[in-house]
Amino acid sequence: MTILPVIPTSPDTPDAVTTRRRPTMPPRHLADLDLEARKAAVTELGLPAFRAKQLSTHYFGRLVRDPEAMTDLPAAARSTLAGDLFPTLLTAQRELTCDDGATRKTLWRLHDNAMVESVLMGYPDRITACVSSQAGCGMACPFCATGQAGLTRNLSVAEIVDQVVYLAGVAASGAVTGSPPRLSRVVFMGMGEPLANYPRVIQAVRRLTAPAPEGLGLSQRHITVSTVGLVPAMRRLIAEELSVTLALSLHAPDDDLRDELVPVNQRWKVAEVLDAAFDYAAQTGRRISIEYALIRDVNDQPWRADLLGRLLHGKLAHVNLIPLNPTPGSKWDASPKPVEREFVRRLREAGVATTVRDTRGREIDGACGQLAASELTAVDAGGSTTRAEVAR
Ligand code: SAH
Repeated sequence: MTILPVIPTSPDTPDAVTTRRRPTMPPRHLADLDLEARKAAVTELGLPAFRAKQLSTHYFGRLVRDPEAMTDLPAAARSTLAGDLFPTLLTAQRELTCDDGATRKTLWRLHDNAMVESVLMGYPDRITACVSSQAGCGMACPFCATGQAGLTRNLSVAEIVDQVVYLAGVAASGAVTGSPPRLSRVVFMGMGEPLANYPRVIQAVRRLTAPAPEGLGLSQRHITVSTVGLVPAMRRLIAEELSVTLALSLHAPDDDLRDELVPVNQRWKVAEVLDAAFDYAAQTGRRISIEYALIRDVNDQPWRADLLGRLLHGKLAHVNLIPLNPTPGSKWDASPKPVEREFVRRLREAGVATTVRDTRGREIDGACGQLAASELTAVDAGGSTTRAEVAR
């Protein structure tokens, strides 16, 4: 693992870091606005409307996040814009890499000192960004590190988009060795429950997928929204007529166990949540992804594989098994490999496409469900592991 130096993008405020304040939404940023609203904003600042397109080309087209680097703008306009349309939303607190540079985690401090994380994962044919939609999470899944700390607040549209624009810039710099220099996929699998921050996540998706200079020009199909299964929001998503990929964190095929593993199941049961997911698949023609963290002796029994197989047989769905990444102090562990193999075999026998997710980023706590920003495992120069408060 490599700990990369962080170049400060705003002055450090050590006092503020230690003071607990009520979380507040950040100031407005260019990425909060569509092109029309950007035009109105620059006009209000006394600048000609064409500057809106110029700024958008810098930010979304060239991935320039700092107006001081937009040297074709008059100097006076740059400082006005910096304050009004480019406030610093994300300050990198720490960057960690592993998997020979193919995985990189960034820990961000937000304007109110809330912390979130993003992860960039390089593969031979693509680069994927895993982004956060909330600071913390209110869904309280007992096996998930983020779920333990509760919800701090929703992220703004720009706080979500800016994570992606930053990571697209890292990708474009060629820093991810062995991968093409273009970020092509975004998964909402970082901190937070995306559908609990519904309007902002949808706007962020629209901004990420609008062609440049309005947005980042990513393909909707290459964006995955992952949910615990908030059924009314899933139904709302169907009505948006977007073709994003929907991932459903199921983790158990029966209500008894799912009530415990995904507490929101007490409100919307397995049958209801699967119905909504199947309807999404039918409407979009997109296969849904059923996420299932395999937990030793908890949800990995052959009969549960068979039940899941029966529920999904003939549906436009595939199962993505995730070896559980145990959270610190957790009583749970990943299933042994032979048990995992048997689970896969039974699902495939039932005709259900099944994959096992790779375990990227484990060394840097960048793996699924490990994005708990209040604490971070730091490896010191001697190679021993220490728990360290990051917000120090
Ligand atoms: N709230 C959303 C998205 C964030 S979590 C959701 O639940 O879908 C992204 C994925 O990581 C989810 O499938 C989640 O269940 C899974 N996950 C959380 N903690 C995990 C852990 N400790 N090990 C493996 N997967 C985990």
